[in-house]
Amino acid sequence: MNGICPYCEDLREVAEKHKNEIFKIRGEEIPVEVTVLECNTCHQEFAPTEMEESNFKKAYDIYRTRKRLLFPEEIAAIRSKYELSQRALSRLLGWGEITIHNYEAGALQDEAHNSVLKFIQSPHNMRALFRENRDRLSPKEAEKLEEVLRRLLQEEDREQYQHIWEKQFCEFPMGSNTGNRKFDFDKFKNVVLFLLKENGWLWKTKLLKLLFYADFAYFRQQAIAITGAQYVHLDLGPVPDHYEEFLERMRNLGLIAKEFERFNNADYLGEKLLALQDPETELLSPHELRCIKFVADYFRNYSASQISEYSHQEEAYKKTRHQEVIDYHFASALSIPVF
Ligand SMILES: [Zn+2]
Repeated sequence: MNGICPYCEDLREVAEKHKNEIFKIRGEEIPVEVTVLECNTCHQEFAPTEMEESNFKKAYDIYRTRKRLLFPEEIAAIRSKYELSQRALSRLLGWGEITIHNYEAGALQDEAHNSVLKFIQSPHNMRALFRENRDRLSPKEAEKLEEVLRRLLQEEDREQYQHIWEKQFCEFPMGSNTGNRKFDFDKFKNVVLFLLKENGWLWKTKLLKLLFYADFAYFRQQAIAITGAQYVHLDLGPVPDHYEEFLERMRNLGLIAKEFERFNNADYLGEKLLALQDPETELLSPHELRCIKFVADYFRNYSASQISEYSHQEEAYKKTRHQEVIDYHFASALSIPVF
């Protein structure tokens, strides 16, 4: 290839060359593999501005990694998370107006600034800093940041709660008690939504039986359950373990609604459920969907007490005791036809 050689001051044939060089950054020696050009006529080496910059950038990146300094893109990400302009964030931190602009453009931040930037990655810390220094922002900027922080902190709480909740209720030892599958709350939610969509307002008692039949019927043919729920023997039939918590969680997430209705003209009230959202059917395989649909159709005209009585005749129920976990091996004796 050709290029202008600064030594010959003329167009020359040049070749790209890689070599190791030591850069000194803040007193520290950084070895870098740099790219330079060599003139084929005078054999001098040189690097055009762009190449020089990219060599420097390489050295900075190595230095950043070594010193655990944030990269320019990470600094930009922090700023955009809080929806602040470069100037506003600089002012909030009490730095020069263009400091953040320079850092995002690749200037090396000092270590004290780096610690502050890492500190405000957490919205909790950012809120504390903001409370101290609110007056450094314009009223409009302050108001907006307050709103953004509220949203971020809410999201964090929700995620934390979801995590704790899942640890508490969704972890069953996996095996023939969970149909050889790790319990999957996302799938469970969607099977529930699918069954409710099929039925409109549905008695909770009936929903719980439909879930049992869907998981066990699928297991009978595929040796694996759909949701991985663990079922237990209760008076009203087989039900998913922790179903109260699961349904309450779905209600809190705005996925289902519940109401109480007099049960079969009896003296007590029963619970009815309704889907408020469509199931995300892409989380279920076509084969799983066929099984769930089959179960919904098979029991379509059964009342809640009829399906309860029906389930009481299953080996899965007759051969287990009150509150005992129902092993999926009972699926082989299931009385409904294959789907
Ligand atoms: Zn030359």
